Amino acid sequence: MLLRVKNLKKYFPVKHGFVIERTVGHVKAVDNVNLHLERGETYGLVGESGCGKTTIGKTILRLHDPSAGKIMVDDKETSHFFMKKREAKEFLKREYVDKAEGLKKQYKSVDGVMANTEEYENQYYKYYFDNGEEKFYDFMMKDIKKKRMNFRRNVQIVFQDPTSSLNPRMTVGQALMEPLLFHGVVKNKLQAKERILEMLRTVGLKAYHADRYPHQFSGGQRQRVAVARAIVLDPNLIILDEPTSALDVSVQAQIIRLLKELQDKLNAGYLFISHDLGVVRYISNYVGVMYLGRMVEYGVGDEVFDKPEHPYAQALLNAAPVPDPNKRRDRKQFIITGQVPSPMNRPKGCFFNPRCKFAMDECKQKYPPYYAINDKHFVACYLYKENEVVKGD
Ligand code: SF4
Repeated sequence: MLLRVKNLKKYFPVKHGFVIERTVGHVKAVDNVNLHLERGETYGLVGESGCGKTTIGKTILRLHDPSAGKIMVDDKETSHFFMKKREAKEFLKREYVDKAEGLKKQYKSVDGVMANTEEYENQYYKYYFDNGEEKFYDFMMKDIKKKRMNFRRNVQIVFQDPTSSLNPRMTVGQALMEPLLFHGVVKNKLQAKERILEMLRTVGLKAYHADRYPHQFSGGQRQRVAVARAIVLDPNLIILDEPTSALDVSVQAQIIRLLKELQDKLNAGYLFISHDLGVVRYISNYVGVMYLGRMVEYGVGDEVFDKPEHPYAQALLNAAPVPDPNKRRDRKQFIITGQVPSPMNRPKGCFFNPRCKFAMDECKQKYPPYYAINDKHFVACYLYKENEVVKGD
């Protein structure tokens, strides 16, 4: 599995006081979110501003440390790559040194340990038995650093605003050269130049664009540069955070078409964050609808878009433009009243209950579990409590 997010939480502390600072609460930006994604697929995250979509993307990328939960990329737990030195030492002692010593006692010899443990653990145990504890820690810290660099290379992001995500002092050629040399993808500058020209061609730019600065491009061209920078390292996973919302509609279409073509070529997985429902529908295999930090409904894209079941998802998705206006359901039926509650002070029970016209007593008591509409479509709403309860992932 390319990406697996399990029970992810990201809480931001809210502090008050100038002289003595104290935490007065937490903004629960992401709360118990699960999702998974395979290579070559796109997962669309939708929801109104402030629902936690971007925080999920940034937390996966480790621009934020998660408060709890697991993020696995290519079946590897990524939090291990970002541990501080002391934390890493404690982890290594617990996971390898103590285990290796325990196994040595159990099998009564080092050879016994080697014969009875999995191959991938063997290489670490062997190094520990051959070189002792201190050298083992040094070796493992280098291993962790290597994995962290690999992660940085394999997971890339395209931000909403290409103007602020590109360095104004660097030409496009320099901006693309930097990661290539840093990650050692190419052996020398000549190879790097060849790769940069290939990338510029791939995103529909010309060789002479390599000598230009970001301010010399149009918005659409700048976003093409940002896409080129994301793909130059040949990543497996690309987080696309509102990649088209700062662009004109015609340019949006070009960028979306480009992203689709690149996905076919690179077989990368996309996490596509957007509030543009039409674009999400076009590009996504799976869709998750978020409200106040939680996924209220998720499943296969067409299923969720054609038959949204959660009252919030119904209102949100019914607002998306459809080619045939006769197919749209009665809009008035889906209008939501009231304001989005503060993420610091969310309502008890289902967070949507103060705005939901179907709210029942139990909705005000406990947050609903996920109910299966079918094996491709799940919803957190008590209206479907007759259905089978499923786990969030
Ligand atoms: Fe409405 Fe209750 Fe469903 Fe929440 S759980 S969306 S309040 S019906």
